[in-house]
Amino acid sequence: MLSNRVKNIAPSATFAIEAKTKQLRSEGKDIVNFGLGEPDFNTPESIKQAAKKAIDSNFTRYTPVGGIPELKKAIADKFRRENSIDYDVSEILVSCGGKHSLYNIAMVILDKGDEAILPVPFWVSYQEIIKLAEAKPVFCRTDKKFKLTADFVEEKVTKKTKLLILNSPNNPSGATIEPDEIRKIAELAIEHKFYVLSDEIYEHFVYNGKHTSIASLNEEIKKLTFTCNAVSKAYAMTGWRIGYVAGSKDIIKAMENLQSNATSNPSSISQYAALEALNGSQDSVTQMVKAFDERRKFIHKRLNEIKGISCIEPEGAFYAFPDISKTNMKSMEFASRLLDEALVAVVPGIAFGSDSHARLSYAASMHDIEKGLNRIEQWLKNKI
Ligand code: PMP
Ligand code: GLU
Repeated sequence: MLSNRVKNIAPSATFAIEAKTKQLRSEGKDIVNFGLGEPDFNTPESIKQAAKKAIDSNFTRYTPVGGIPELKKAIADKFRRENSIDYDVSEILVSCGGKHSLYNIAMVILDKGDEAILPVPFWVSYQEIIKLAEAKPVFCRTDKKFKLTADFVEEKVTKKTKLLILNSPNNPSGATIEPDEIRKIAELAIEHKFYVLSDEIYEHFVYNGKHTSIASLNEEIKKLTFTCNAVSKAYAMTGWRIGYVAGSKDIIKAMENLQSNATSNPSSISQYAALEALNGSQDSVTQMVKAFDERRKFIHKRLNEIKGISCIEPEGAFYAFPDISKTNMKSMEFASRLLDEALVAVVPGIAFGSDSHARLSYAASMHDIEKGLNRIEQWLKNKI
């Protein structure tokens, strides 16, 4: 009795692993969790205070569908300050998490028969969101270090290409796209007239060098780009559900119309919390990124010491994406046996388009990272 639309949609693999981890923990099992990608830090105190103040001031009613004006202004200021992009508030829409922003974009620009280029490996939900919009995901290769180049994109461009998804730093590989390639990709998009969805949710988690926003390059590419972001990762606010997108005014208006009939405004209280996150002190972001950098170096070194596993150095985000092909297990078998036999949760690479990898989120304490990697090493000892 289900619609064809949902029959073909896979549940989010990241949340499926999290549900299984929670279930095993409730049975008393001591699981080391490298599954779900969310900071293990708490939401900073000043942000929680802003939310409490919002409740006490009775900011508890419907707000404008696309976000309160103060938050839209804070987002426009953020884009100018951090990304060198000049967006007007009419070009910004606030939604219920970054995922909702991506969904809105797909729904308003993709039709049946359209192609959306998706570089592999990709974050789980992109593929399903494209399919929900009845368009076709067209997979595009990256190099040995998971780096995307304009040449790889060009191989996949056809007359039907409507959208290219960029995600730098990338979930699950941590790879970033070189600024020169971003420039060439922008030229391609302008030449062939396709849209670019630039998911910049991990922009602060770049460990060497600096993030480049494609929309900052020139007016032409800015018009074709949707710059997406959220407060979820940078401010440890995954549960608050605030994401946002900036793009050309007419399309943003169409997304607002869609949102007005689907969710209405994102939580009024969360919007005030996000306002404080963007306008307040950024010290917590710096501290969190520093902690992740230490874990990144450790997990990269330790993974490469384990026989049967090799891992490129993640340049950004908070994921490691090791090659597990020498274990002679496909990624599903690897992840499910690792969880059952060694009590370590990872996400199988197949969910991200590569069956010879597994994803480990290092948004976990150093203690847990050490413990988990020791377990993986022990578990693999007799298998290779
Ligand atoms: N984009 C990427 C690349 C992600 O990893 C995630 C996962 N959080 C999202 C978007 C969605 O984030 P949110 O929790 O704000 O919906
Ligand atoms: N983005 C995070 C992850 O990849 C959170 C879960 C999700 O939204 O898929 O684990």
